[in-house]
Parts: sequence; C-alpha cells; structure tokens
Amino acid sequence: MPLVSSLELIRKASQEKKAIPAFNIHNLETIQAVVEGAAELDSPVIIQSTPGTLKHAGIEYIAAIVKEASKKYNIPIALHMDHCPSFDTIVSCIKNGYTSVMIDGAQYEYDENVALVKSVVKMAHAVGVQVEGEIGKIGGVEDDMFINEADASFTVPDEAKKFVDDTGIDTLAVAIGTAHGMYKGEPKLDFERIIEIESLVDVPLVLHGASGVPDESVKKAIKLGMAKINIATELKNPMVAAIREVIKNPEENDPRNYMGAARDAVREVVKNKIRLCNTVGFAAEFRK
Ligand SMILES: [Zn+2]
Repeated sequence: MPLVSSLELIRKASQEKKAIPAFNIHNLETIQAVVEGAAELDSPVIIQSTPGTLKHAGIEYIAAIVKEASKKYNIPIALHMDHCPSFDTIVSCIKNGYTSVMIDGAQYEYDENVALVKSVVKMAHAVGVQVEGEIGKIGGVEDDMFINEADASFTVPDEAKKFVDDTGIDTLAVAIGTAHGMYKGEPKLDFERIIEIESLVDVPLVLHGASGVPDESVKKAIKLGMAKINIATELKNPMVAAIREVIKNPEENDPRNYMGAARDAVREVVKNKIRLCNTVGFAAEFRK
C-alpha cells in the first residue's frame, strides 16, 4: 500500500477512541522492526524521524526504506517528521515523500512561533501534507534540545484553542505532564487538562513523552482524546540492551547478529505499544 496521510489514520482512530502509535526510527533495522510488528498485528502505524536521525542516516535513505516497506506490506503506513524547527528541512521532507510533519517553534515567542507554523501549514497544505504543532513545553531531552523541569510548562487550554485557530494546524501536541526520555519517578498525567483541551480544540491531540508512563495512564489518556502516541525512548533501551547482550562475547564481530537481536527486541516493544493503542486489526478499516 502506498504511504498514507497521518491525519486520515489519526482522525479515524480518534472517532473510535483509539490512538495511532508513532514510532521514532533510526535505521534499516528499526524501520523493519516497526513494520514487521505492525504487519503481524495488522495495525496502521506512523513511522517518524527527528532532525538528529536525518543528520545520522540521511533523509533520502530513510524515505526510501520506508517507501519500500510500505510496498511490501498491506497495512497503512504514514511517514512523519518529528520536532522539526526548520522550514527548509520540512520542504525536503515533503520532496522526499513524507506525508506529515511537525513544526516545532518552541524556541520562539508566541507571535514568531505562530508566523513560522502558519507558513509551514500554508506550504504543506498546498501539497496535501498535514502539520502537527505543539503548544506548551514538554520537558526532557529530544535530540539535542533539552528543556529542564523549570522551563517545561503545561499547555493552557485557552492558549491551545487560540494556537490552533491562529495557525490552522491539523493535530496538536500538548504538554500534560509527560516528558521526553525516561522518568525518575512515576509521571502523573493531568487528565483534567486533557478533558478541557479536548472540549475546546477541534483537532486530534498528540501525546509526546509517553515512554515510562504506566499503561493504565496511557489508556486513560487515549479514552480522553489522545489520538497519536509518540514512542521513542522505549525502543532505544531494549535495542541497546539486546546489542550489549550479543557483544558480551568478545569474539562477536558480525553486525547481522547484534543488529538482528536489536531488531527482534524492538519488534516486541512495537507490538506491545500497538496493543496499548488498541489498534490490533485496525488496518482492515483502511483497506475498505
Ligand atoms: Zn516530542
């Protein structure tokens, strides 16, 4: 199946109180792990890259691998750019076949942020690509950006509505108590805030920083309106653990062995997250 629009997946999920899992990938093996896991459970899936991943792997390679993967499996796959601060990078993503993008203007004051997001929305919508925006600051480490706890701020519901109206974005990432990376203590999500934002804003909501959040909290957030769940750190940890295990053997020098083990480990997490998002078998809805 050719790559599909993220928004089409997210809207349908939102209607059914499900969420589309969005996995951050880094290379061939992590992309394979995501599509194999999704195909096995017949789930739609969003594959996403950060600017750091594009710097590491190259946008053409990432886009080409994902396009080949989508040809191979009969499930809907979207290709999304995550946390991109640059208009120009978004243009190259779109040229390379990305079907949605997140423009991250968190470094700017409100007016400048809105101007940047609006310009991306105008350009992306002209070619049928959807745009995710973010209001409020999600703490933690994302690529080479770091937002400490004191600077992280929860999304204010009225500001969320204004931001959506001012920019014309298609989906909105909100800060409701999650953080990028892993947590030291148990994160507490502000469910009341989700309810309030959801009642004011008419675009689907996106949850970032879900790694380490208890499953029950994620499920509740999905029921309350989170229609896309980003998963990044929770794939990295089992990947590196699997590699460490294989290279314990000092004779081991075959990348196919340690990268293969990494792929197997990532695939298992992918399947668990798909179950958590309640999208097992949901791909069938998009083949009608
Ligand atoms: Zn994020």
